[in-house]
Amino acid sequence: MRRRFAAHHGAWDIVIVGGGATGVGIAIDAASRGYGALLLEQSDFGKGTSSRSTKLVHGGVRYLEQGNLRLVMEALRERGLLLQNAPHLVRNLAFVVPSYDWWEAPFYGAGLKLYNLLAGKYRFGPSEILSREETLQRLPSIRTEGLRGGVVYYDGQFDDTRLLIHLVATAFEQGAALLNYAPVTEVARDGVKFRDFESGEDLAASARVVVNATGPFSDSIRRMADPAAEPAIAPSQGVHLVFDASFLPGDSAIMVPHTSDGRVMFAIPWHGHTLVGTTDTPIEDVPLEPVALEHEIEFILQTAALYLERKPARADILSVFAGIRPLSRPGTAAGQTSALSRDHTIRVEPSGILTITGGKWTTYRRMAEHCVDEAAKLASLPAAACVTRDLPIHGAHSDEAPPGHLSVYGADARSILDFGAPQPLDPELPYTEAEVIWAARREMARTVEDVLARRTRALFLNARAAMCMAPRVAELLARELGRDPAWQRAQVEAFCDLARRYLPAAL
Ligand SMILES: Cc1cc2nc3c(=O)[nH]c(=O)nc-3n(C[C@H](O)[C@H](O)[C@H](O)COP(=O)(O)OP(=O)(O)OC[C@H]3O[C@@H](n4cnc5c(N)ncnc54)[C@H](O)[C@@H]3O)c2cc1C
Repeated sequence: MRRRFAAHHGAWDIVIVGGGATGVGIAIDAASRGYGALLLEQSDFGKGTSSRSTKLVHGGVRYLEQGNLRLVMEALRERGLLLQNAPHLVRNLAFVVPSYDWWEAPFYGAGLKLYNLLAGKYRFGPSEILSREETLQRLPSIRTEGLRGGVVYYDGQFDDTRLLIHLVATAFEQGAALLNYAPVTEVARDGVKFRDFESGEDLAASARVVVNATGPFSDSIRRMADPAAEPAIAPSQGVHLVFDASFLPGDSAIMVPHTSDGRVMFAIPWHGHTLVGTTDTPIEDVPLEPVALEHEIEFILQTAALYLERKPARADILSVFAGIRPLSRPGTAAGQTSALSRDHTIRVEPSGILTITGGKWTTYRRMAEHCVDEAAKLASLPAAACVTRDLPIHGAHSDEAPPGHLSVYGADARSILDFGAPQPLDPELPYTEAEVIWAARREMARTVEDVLARRTRALFLNARAAMCMAPRVAELLARELGRDPAWQRAQVEAFCDLARRYLPAAL
């Protein structure tokens, strides 16, 4: 990547600030149209919101309820395209809405029929009303008292950062240059200044157009270009708790359409664990490493207890993570962020840069298409049509995927197996030494956190197990990256400090 950056002469067609789903999607779109694209990420790819989602590729059942059919249809089409272009990374998952009241099954059954119909040719499967017995077969751990039945429907599930890393690889294959650990420090209409942490150099890149794709951080970039810029983001925090698989045995997820605060909540089988969330808490500041609030943890535990026969306790939490939604702020300030649109907004700033905010993971491709159309107009780039609708994502393959946890690597899995050492680094998780070496050599991992949080999902699945893996990961990385024992020790210490924040405080 650095060689590609250094070899580029003159202005880039597009410089993108931010290496989450939005920015990397834009890099793929721009490069595959033939535009020269540079992306700069201040930390690691996916360090922001894009590693902290509910891991659903979905139309958004809730937007259906809000009557936003256009948004639902667009997202359902994108769900279908993502399954088509990244079959190794998206899977079709059954979701059951349990019913404890007579009206619930027919009511949600009708809504979910419409949800399936709106997907058109990209349908994932018809919804069905379930008897009590059928509901229990699919959800053996559901609370039985008062259970009448349920409704099953189908939606997509994925691993957010695994997809992101494959998107980075796709963008590179299309000709883009993408640097992680390259914070942008100054922004203007015709280019940016940034620091390259790898070399310690302060560098500049000139651009025909600069795109601010920094999600919840976008106001800080807007203010770099125009210190008087009014806030455009209404940040809202969402928290997830992770438990072991025994809380949700089987292969179906639970969808609770109305929690006591009127939100949707999910319990989902994910990488051999149970993921439960989320919350929606308006916040003021946007830290890079948000922390779950005590009342958010309690709320999820209490809601889960209403639906599970065995109530999860604080001591059962293996990991807790928080993310910040980059919701577009409407004209007037709002306290209730769940009512704000998840639709994206693209604006040309008075400073001349383009800012894209809002949207969701599922619609990253459509957002990128829209943004590059606008960027090309703004910079008078030669017209070129978007080609990403049918562009396979790195690792997509027609052969049968290897079994087990390596299947998410798609076509890369065979090469990882060639790196040897299939035994896990920790008995609680399946990740191996070969994946650490692969991450360092082929996926731009620079730190223990990159490996344990985003190339593998150890930190998000089981923070204690991740801490146990850290010393060996640091040793392997030091060997791969040519670092000394002091670096190794500092990496383990920094990672363990971070991982402790993924465990709930003892009360
Ligand atoms: C709790 C929660 C659950 C969600 N669940 C789902 C879901 O199930 N399905 C779905 O479709 N969507 C979901 N979403 C929405 C989705 O995750 C986001 O819309 C998406 O990840 C936003 O991506 P982004 O690239 O815009 O922002 P980010 O991922 O935050 O990326 C912005 C990047 O900009 C970088 N940056 C900031 N400042 C600078 C700088 N000065 N220089 C360089 N880089 C900089 C940051 O480090 C960051 O990596 C969820 C969101 C939340 C919060």
